[in-house]
Amino acid sequence: MIQSVNSLSSNNPLLEKVVRADPLIANRSDTWTYQVLHALQDFPASQQFLNAIRSRKSITLKQFELPLRGHIIGSRRELDDLTPHDNHHSSRIMRTYHAHFGVPLGIAPGWWDDRKRNHKPVLPIYLRLDIFNNLSRALSCLRLSGHNLLVQRMLNNRNRRPYEIRICDKRDWHSVQDEEHTLLDCSHEHLVSLRTQHRQLVFPHQNEDSPTCLRTFLNQPDIHGVASFVAECLALFP
Ligand SMILES: [Zn+2]
Repeated sequence: MIQSVNSLSSNNPLLEKVVRADPLIANRSDTWTYQVLHALQDFPASQQFLNAIRSRKSITLKQFELPLRGHIIGSRRELDDLTPHDNHHSSRIMRTYHAHFGVPLGIAPGWWDDRKRNHKPVLPIYLRLDIFNNLSRALSCLRLSGHNLLVQRMLNNRNRRPYEIRICDKRDWHSVQDEEHTLLDCSHEHLVSLRTQHRQLVFPHQNEDSPTCLRTFLNQPDIHGVASFVAECLALFP
C-alpha cells in the first residue's frame, strides 16, 4: 500500500499533480495520504515511514514487513479473550470474526518464525474447497457480517443501538440476534425446522441435545451441507 502511494505516477498531467499535491495537504482527513498516515499512527517506529510517505521517498518493504506482521498479530491477540458481546473499543465485526471464523493464532512467542512455518494451522475447509457461488457467498456474508440480522441492522441504523438491546424478535426476546444465536440457538419455528433437517451437522454427536459451537460447526467436512444450512438460515432474514 505504502509503496503504491509513493510510486504512484501517471501520464495524465492533472492526475500527476493531484498525486503530488496529496501528501502536501495530508493534514486534511479527506485526502488519501491522511488515511494512510492515520492507519500507521500506532505502528512501531512509525516516524520513519510517516516521513517517507510525506516526502514521497521509497520505503524498503523488508523493513516494513516485520513490524507490520507484529503489529497485526498484536492487535489480534488483544481480541483473544473477548467474545463478540464484550464491551471493547474494537468493532463487533472484528470480535465476531476473531471468535468464530478467523484462523487461530499460535500461542507461543515467535510462532510466526519461518522455522515454524510447517506447524501453522491451515485455512478452514470452506475456504479450500470449490463450492457453488451462491453457497460461497452465504458463508462470506456470515463471516463478514454482511447479513441482515438485528445485531448488524441496528448497528447500521443512523441511531445506533447498544449491543444488548439488539435482541432477537423471532419469539425469543432474551438473546442478541447474532450469528451464533440464529444458526444454533434461536427457537423460531423455521430455524428449528432447518436444524432438524440438518440434524447431523448441528448435533454431530448422537444423543446430544446441545448444538456444537459455531466455529466447530463451520469446519465440518460436509461443507456443502454446512453452506446450504447457512444460506437457508440467512434467507429467512431478507
Ligand atoms: Zn431468536
